[in-house]
Amino acid sequence: MTGGGRSAAPAVDTVGVLLRTTPFGEADVIVALLTRDHGRISALARGARRSRRRFGGALGPLTVCRYALRPRTRGELWTLESAEVIADFTRLAADVAAFAHASYVIELARELCPPEVPEPEVLDLVIAAHESLAAVGARPAALRAFELQLLDALGSAPQLDACVGCGRADVLDAAGAVFDPGRGGAVCAGCAAASRGPAVRPLPPGARAYLRAARAVDHPRDAAPLDADADEAARVEHAQARDAVVAMLGHLLGRPLKTLEFIAKLQSAHRRGDVP
Ligand SMILES: [Zn+2]
Repeated sequence: MTGGGRSAAPAVDTVGVLLRTTPFGEADVIVALLTRDHGRISALARGARRSRRRFGGALGPLTVCRYALRPRTRGELWTLESAEVIADFTRLAADVAAFAHASYVIELARELCPPEVPEPEVLDLVIAAHESLAAVGARPAALRAFELQLLDALGSAPQLDACVGCGRADVLDAAGAVFDPGRGGAVCAGCAAASRGPAVRPLPPGARAYLRAARAVDHPRDAAPLDADADEAARVEHAQARDAVVAMLGHLLGRPLKTLEFIAKLQSAHRRGDVP
């Protein structure tokens, strides 16, 4: 190859979302993208810090974009040639809870997707989660639907329909069932003696039913009615369901998720009446 060292590979067009931006040098930005055709990739956006016009709103959060990318050669980064916003969810930033949920959706996709493995279903779920936030706001059941369907798409879904110990489905509604992320799902009382440790949590029938219903929806927004008219007992079960999924995610990632702490703070502020 002669000349300026630019790769001769032709640019490719693909749809995706922005996962993270990192300033690079004085003028450039490294972007982490989740793309339909190439999975999670890192690309250099030249001049993105010097000229905001070049990429417009495409390098901000809460957008779905069409990217023109030049594939990397050897160990180098991809190059982001241009980006065009094709779906704009930036109005979600005005709602602090919706913004927190959207940030969590992006963090999960960023941390769980392996690099450069096409995951079109994961991108569709991320976009659907944004659509749900725009349609029904920040709803815990919609977030459970996203989490469980994401884990399904990535082949890491917890087993909720039968005991991971004995394989029986009819024993999970008896008292004493637990959720054990290390064993991969629900464990009946009879098999629970082998489930020990801080990540093991109670999984009463109402919590398991809530998770199974959230997982089964066609679109995350369709899970929102699962939170409606919840009395105190149901709210406790929904929190147990959330804790089970969070334990599963923590087990897979080996650490807690940053944006979850923020959501938890919002929820406790809400319960105290600080947030309308
Ligand atoms: Zn069992």
